[in-house]
Amino acid sequence: MEYALITGGSRGIGKAVALRLARSGRAVIINYRSNEDAARQTVAEIEAVGGQAELLCFDISSPEAIETALAQWQEAHPADYVSVLVNNAGLRRDNLLIFMQNDEWKQVVDTSLNGFFYITRRLLKDMLTHRNGRIINVASLSGIKGLPGQTNYSAAKAAVIGATKALAQEVAKRKVTVNAVAPGFIATDMTHDLDENELKKLIPAGRFGTPDEVAAAVEFLAGADAAYITGQVIQINGGLYT
Ligand code: NAP
Repeated sequence: MEYALITGGSRGIGKAVALRLARSGRAVIINYRSNEDAARQTVAEIEAVGGQAELLCFDISSPEAIETALAQWQEAHPADYVSVLVNNAGLRRDNLLIFMQNDEWKQVVDTSLNGFFYITRRLLKDMLTHRNGRIINVASLSGIKGLPGQTNYSAAKAAVIGATKALAQEVAKRKVTVNAVAPGFIATDMTHDLDENELKKLIPAGRFGTPDEVAAAVEFLAGADAAYITGQVIQINGGLYT
C-alpha cells in the first residue's frame, strides 16, 4: 500500500495538504514535532470525512529521530511504502542579518534545508525501487525574491529550490518527480504576527492566500496528471511576484 507523508502536517499548509490528499483517497502520515493536540485534531478531521491518517512525531532537523520513527513505521507496515513526500515543515526566525544569532540561522536551515535532505534521502530508495514517487517541497516567495529580515529563511528556501531542480534530474528516469511550490503570504500561525492589512496592499489579489489554495497545487503535483512535470516551482502568491 502507498502512503503520503506530510512533514509538519498538523497545522497550516501541511494540514490543508493532508486533508486534500486524504479526501482524494490516499492514506496519509502526518508528521509533527511538538503540538500533539493540533496533530490529533487533524487526524480527527480526516477521519470525519472517511479518510485514513496516522501520526508520526519526529523533529525533521534530526536524522536520528527520522530514522527511529521511520524504522518503527516500516516495522508496523512491512508491505507499504511512502510514494508521496511533501516536505512542508518549516519555521521563521526573522532578524536583520547584522543582529542574527547563530541559533536563528541554524534552526531555520536545519529545519527547511537539512530536514528536506534527511527525510528525502531516507524515503527516496523505496520510490526508486517501485519506480513511482512524488516529492513536493514547500519553498517560499522569500527563496525566490529574497525578503529583508529573512536572510536565513530566504537562503534555506532558495537552496531547497536548487535541490529540487538537481534531484529532479537525478530521478526522472525512475518515474519520480520532484517539484516545489513557492507560496507568498498565506494565512496560518506562521504569519499571524504580520500586519495583514498593510501587507495585503502590496498583493495584486488584495488578500493573503489560504492554506487550501497551496494544497490544491500540491495535490495536483502529487497526482497522475503531473507525471511529466518535474523540476518546477509553482508560485502561489496572488500576483505579488512572478
Ligand atoms: P505553521 O502553521 O507554523 O505550521 C508549521 C508546521 O511545521 C507544524 O505542523 C509544525 O509542527 C511543523 N514543524 C515545525 N518545525 C518542525 C520540525 N523541526 N519537525 C517537524 N515538524 C515541524 O506553518 P505554515 O505557514 O503552514 O508553513 C508551512 C510551510 O510553508 C513552511 O515550510 C513555511 O516555510 C512555508 N511557507 C509558509 C508561508 C506562509 O505565508 N504561511 C509562505 C511561504 C512558505 P508542531 O506544531 O508540532 O511544531
